Amino acid sequence: MKYYHSTRNSSISVNGAQAVLQGIAPDGGLFVPENFEKLDLEGLFSLDAYGLFARVLCALLGGWTEREMRETVVTGYRGRFETEEVTPLVTAGETHILELFRGPTSAFKDVALSLLPHFITRAAREERVTDEIRILTATSGDTGKAALAGFADVPGTSIAVFYPHGGVSEIQRRQMVTQRGQNVRVCAVRGNFDDAQTGVKAIFANEGLKARLKEKSVRLSSANSINLGRLAPQVAYYFKAYGDLLRRGVIRMGDAVNFAVPTGNFGDILAGEYARHMGLPVGKLLCASNRNRVLADYLATGVYDRRREFFHTASPSMDILVSSNLERCLHLLSGGDCALVADQMGQLQRQGYYRTPESVMKAFRRDFFGGYASDEDCFRAIDGLYRETNYLMDPHTAVAYAVSRAYRESTGDNRPMVVLATASPYKFAPDVLRALRQEDAQGFAALRRLQEKTGVPIPKNLSELEGLPELHRDVIDVSQMPEYVEK
Ligand SMILES: *Cc1c(COP(=O)(O)O)cnc(C)c1O
Repeated sequence: MKYYHSTRNSSISVNGAQAVLQGIAPDGGLFVPENFEKLDLEGLFSLDAYGLFARVLCALLGGWTEREMRETVVTGYRGRFETEEVTPLVTAGETHILELFRGPTSAFKDVALSLLPHFITRAAREERVTDEIRILTATSGDTGKAALAGFADVPGTSIAVFYPHGGVSEIQRRQMVTQRGQNVRVCAVRGNFDDAQTGVKAIFANEGLKARLKEKSVRLSSANSINLGRLAPQVAYYFKAYGDLLRRGVIRMGDAVNFAVPTGNFGDILAGEYARHMGLPVGKLLCASNRNRVLADYLATGVYDRRREFFHTASPSMDILVSSNLERCLHLLSGGDCALVADQMGQLQRQGYYRTPESVMKAFRRDFFGGYASDEDCFRAIDGLYRETNYLMDPHTAVAYAVSRAYRESTGDNRPMVVLATASPYKFAPDVLRALRQEDAQGFAALRRLQEKTGVPIPKNLSELEGLPELHRDVIDVSQMPEYVEK
């Protein structure tokens, strides 16, 4: 049996099923594994992609046999991802690009959200929870669709997604409002993303509402990226990428590989640190930020300070000032010092900043490199790599690519570099066109224009959107959200 405890208190301890069902620990901390199992790499790399994912997932989430896990992985990915490789590795110039966006919504969040519903329903069975699990999500665009696609028609679950009315791109809106499924609801909220998010948080804190739902055998849950079930699948693709480099003769077993990660909430890059603790030879993890460079500043100074201006950038999924999963890394790199974590998170909440002791920052700087790229840097990177190699990146991926180039130049570290590609360029076609210095276009016209220019195929899930009927037309005020969830 594996156990997990809160980052803020090691005596708050649960099993894997409870960690997945609860999402967040009752003291506000995040669940972390008590220890990391070291994997036998030779054995792991002899498996196919599904088998590799299954083995890594079994090592992270307790209580599964490898066979059951493989079945779940196959159910989640086969026929839904474009390739049986799940996360293919491609090479462009000197850089290896790990494509995490080949799933049903062309966003990297598909990798985790295609499995999470199965983890949740299985955890509910294990814990003898018979209630329907109703997922509530506020989204600024990407997460909502990936969650809808993951939970649609999964027995025992339902999902409601709230997005800011007029606050997502036309493609993102179409992706959500065309979602099929008996158990899905999509609703626009008058207000911005923060209003929708605050509305969802208020529902989770509304005891009266939860009691009424309980009478109807409904229990609320979230598909938030702090859930252990969302983190675990992300660890697997670091192993997958390393195995691919090995097979292609780029590296020999034991060689260290660097990874550049476009970072927002710190989940994706934390997964790389977890892979390191499970025995993968990870070199530097490049933590790439956009103009909202809280993390780059933190790695440079040891001070995490969210008291700063918030910028809207061309990489909106990284426009974040509080990176929740950093808490797990702080726990790990402080040697499991829960008192320190609780103290620092308390300071963040009370005063908006904290300073991490130099001894812990030393460990951070050993494992991570922090960098950032402006929109201009990012556009230049898209254009530059496309001209050199014909590889087309989305703006999030381009932030990581730009940081990887700057890192190489400033350090001379020439170990193989894998850049994590987190979205299809077609999800952000208007900005990619701008980067390539093409005429402005919006919506589906931008998709077509980008395809004409580059010849890169439009992912089917995006091209077929134009012809799909809009099934969800609700628009409500924040004050109506509780009522909406109840019915
Ligand atoms: C969510 C997201 C990220 C950031 O990932 P984190 O795990 O939050 O750091 C980067 N790029 C895209 C396209 C995303 O959707």
